[in-house]
Amino acid sequence: MKTPESWVVVGLDNGGNKNNATIVDPSGQFLVDAMVETPSRVLEGPVVAVEALAEAFTAILARSGVASERVRAVGLDTPGPASADGVISSRGSTNFAHPGWRDFDFRGALEDRLGLRVTYNNDGNAAALYAHYVCFGKEAGLRSSISAIVGTGLGGGVIEAGRIIRGAAGFAGELGHVHIPMDGLLGEGQPLPRCNCGFVGDVESVASLIAIEHNLLPYWLTRFPGHELGQPGVDMPKAAKIVRSYGEKGDPMARQIFEQQAKAIGRLFTIAANFTDPDAYFVGGGVVESAPEFRDWFLAKVRESTLLKEEQARVVRFALVPDRDMAGARGAALAALESLHGNA
Ligand SMILES: [Zn+2]
Repeated sequence: MKTPESWVVVGLDNGGNKNNATIVDPSGQFLVDAMVETPSRVLEGPVVAVEALAEAFTAILARSGVASERVRAVGLDTPGPASADGVISSRGSTNFAHPGWRDFDFRGALEDRLGLRVTYNNDGNAAALYAHYVCFGKEAGLRSSISAIVGTGLGGGVIEAGRIIRGAAGFAGELGHVHIPMDGLLGEGQPLPRCNCGFVGDVESVASLIAIEHNLLPYWLTRFPGHELGQPGVDMPKAAKIVRSYGEKGDPMARQIFEQQAKAIGRLFTIAANFTDPDAYFVGGGVVESAPEFRDWFLAKVRESTLLKEEQARVVRFALVPDRDMAGARGAALAALESLHGNA
């Protein structure tokens, strides 16, 4: 399958600042080992951004020495909110604030520009699919998994028999907005956490950067008076971003914060265990790049907070979403490859 003449699929991960590109062959082998980044220019609106993706497409082919005629399809992933078919929400978001993005068919526009079939996924689903393939390899099509990815919000995805579950309206796998029990999770006197979506006590209201800034850090600073991050002049958004580096050094307050996040993810996985009973649970986000001791501690806390039946505990796997920076592009490419195989 790895003959130089074989057809290929290109994966394009569209982020707030950068596009990252990759190439995969029909057997699922990636032809690019590193990040290949170019500016995404999404803030300048869709016309400029589609052109920037076309440039990313040309650049990855040039760099890999692959002729454009060999490309059979393209996988695109972006942050949400967007429909299952890649139409950007009219609500707007950080990346897609330019008015031209409202209800813009990003997938369709890229398909027209490149003259190639484009498969769309949100970045959480793409990373979830990549983690699934890395974990299960040739058995990917027989297995199921759930991924929780902690970032500004809480993203992820649900994979069943090697395929991303999208749902009737495209909202399957919106794991951040699943309600979880708060009993035994919150500290004494800790306010009920509220999510940007309007829910109180969902996963994202605890396990996200926004949750650290709005709820977890303000509360835990009252329990650790005199903490460096509570000193006058330290602003909360900045403190929320650096609290993980304290956790890596074993800071007790930071560990309390991340233990709450791990418990929230464990409670989400407990729901999954009773719902689809997956073969594997993956955790992604900044924690993947943290110090090994902290990373292992966090994953162990997630596992400990996931209540499984004995039969489940015997067969299940817990792991990190690998290659954080490349997971989106690689997952997008695999989804496009899978859609070709599915229609072969
Ligand atoms: Zn929510």
